[in-house]
Amino acid sequence: MKEKKPKHTTTDTGIPVSSDEFSLTVGPDGPILLQDHYLIEQMANFNRERIPERQPHAKGSGAFGHFKVTKDVSKYTKAAVFQPGATTDTLMRFSTVAGERGSPDTWRDPRGFALKFYTSEGNYDMVGNNTPVFFIRDPMKFQHFIRSQKRRADTNLRDHDMQWDFWTLSPESAHQVTILMGDRGIPKSWRHMNGYSSHTYMWVNAKNQRFWVKYHFKTDQGIDYLTQKDADRLAGEDGDYHTRDLYDAIKNGDHPSWTFKVQIMPFKDAENYRFNPFDLTKVWPHDDYPLIEVGKLTLDRNPTDHHTEIEQAAFEPNNLVPGIGISPDKMLVARVFAYADAHRARMGVNYRQIPVNRPKVPVNSYSKDGAMRMQNVSDPVYAPNSKGGPQADPERYPYVEKWAASGEFMHSAYTPHKEDNDFVQPGTLIREVMDDAQRQRLVANVVGHLKNGVSKPILERAFEYWRNIDKNIGNRIAKGVKGG
Ligand code: NDP
Repeated sequence: MKEKKPKHTTTDTGIPVSSDEFSLTVGPDGPILLQDHYLIEQMANFNRERIPERQPHAKGSGAFGHFKVTKDVSKYTKAAVFQPGATTDTLMRFSTVAGERGSPDTWRDPRGFALKFYTSEGNYDMVGNNTPVFFIRDPMKFQHFIRSQKRRADTNLRDHDMQWDFWTLSPESAHQVTILMGDRGIPKSWRHMNGYSSHTYMWVNAKNQRFWVKYHFKTDQGIDYLTQKDADRLAGEDGDYHTRDLYDAIKNGDHPSWTFKVQIMPFKDAENYRFNPFDLTKVWPHDDYPLIEVGKLTLDRNPTDHHTEIEQAAFEPNNLVPGIGISPDKMLVARVFAYADAHRARMGVNYRQIPVNRPKVPVNSYSKDGAMRMQNVSDPVYAPNSKGGPQADPERYPYVEKWAASGEFMHSAYTPHKEDNDFVQPGTLIREVMDDAQRQRLVANVVGHLKNGVSKPILERAFEYWRNIDKNIGNRIAKGVKGG
């Protein structure tokens, strides 16, 4: 049989190179010549391989797939991606939050659940987590929160003392911390966890009626978790355990899927609902707003180049399509700015032209030039113009796709709703949702965490924090830490 000849190595400009192994020297033992431009290209390219890692959500991976609408929710939204029968290509990225790019997948942390829908109306991104709530509700605290989860200035070590210092001084964190310290704080794999929008969004139907909506992607593989002990062992044995699990499952044809459901709140309910429906630290109890099925998300294709397809993938909550809008959730409003800004900082202003970020519909924007622009710009380069350039279509975005607000300028907490309290929902989770074994693991996880470098005054605050969530659990935690 005739052997297939390998391709000829070229430089990045396609010029055949003369050696893969030896630099150009004066005689076999002489100095290297500066004119060996291929060697220089190799060294220079290598020095620039890494781009800044995400801050946060640096460690992660993902896969391609599709989303299929199986039910009819057209009475709630006109978005093409959610119309009956629609199938849309998707990209999904899972991640941890605090760890760096090489950190273990099995550290206790919320998981990112970022989804890009390549819709017929442009790219729509849903940048969620595997938990329905978050640690804080005002973006002013976000940067501080993330710093408290990352590394100290002096030792460059992660530090439970600063984590609990921040959490106990921020009681709104109690709900998320309870979920984090429970079983869902270390999922068995990315396939075995749910995804939530966490934020409330707005949906608008074809009659311009508005609704508030929360997303729930329920794993079809079933929820499963790792014990702290197993997670610690895996962190040493295989830091990429979750990355490998997803890749292998898809490679072996075991395509993971999630059933997409929503909670719908009539627009007018928001004002007097017992919890502030825009507060990111709260859920809407299922009994108040039951889940409504929409469709199924399936992942069936692995990336072939992690860097171009996952590391450079840019998910941004500002990517919204007609029929989907934001809500007055202050964290969401901040993310609408912060994500695109993070991508500009990491990859330059033209990151949306990287193939994985390109929509599958024509782009007719007035953006122009900038570093690494690849798509040609044509005249006219300004609007309004009388030269036949693209024109905005206000009809697609009627005024109703927004909400109204008025008031004095101020720095303030949200106006409390009737039952707003930082400890009510985590207390319900502990008392009414968890069973005895789950509560026992929760206590053990918190005790282990607190025993790892948390100083005296902060420890006392932590016991009080847990007693506020649930007196009994707080006492058990205090006893466990004090060794009683
Ligand atoms: P339900 O009994 O209807 O829902 C409880 C939900 O809790 C379950 O559906 C499940 O969410 C989730 N859950 C189960 N075990 C755990 C765990 N160990 N850690 C975190 N979540 C878990 O009651 P409510 O809707 O009234 O909510 C009660 C409490 O449940 C809330 O205060 C909140 O802490 C928690 N919860 C509620 C969610 C909601 O959107 N209503 C979503 C997730 C948690 P799932 O079905 O999504 O897997």
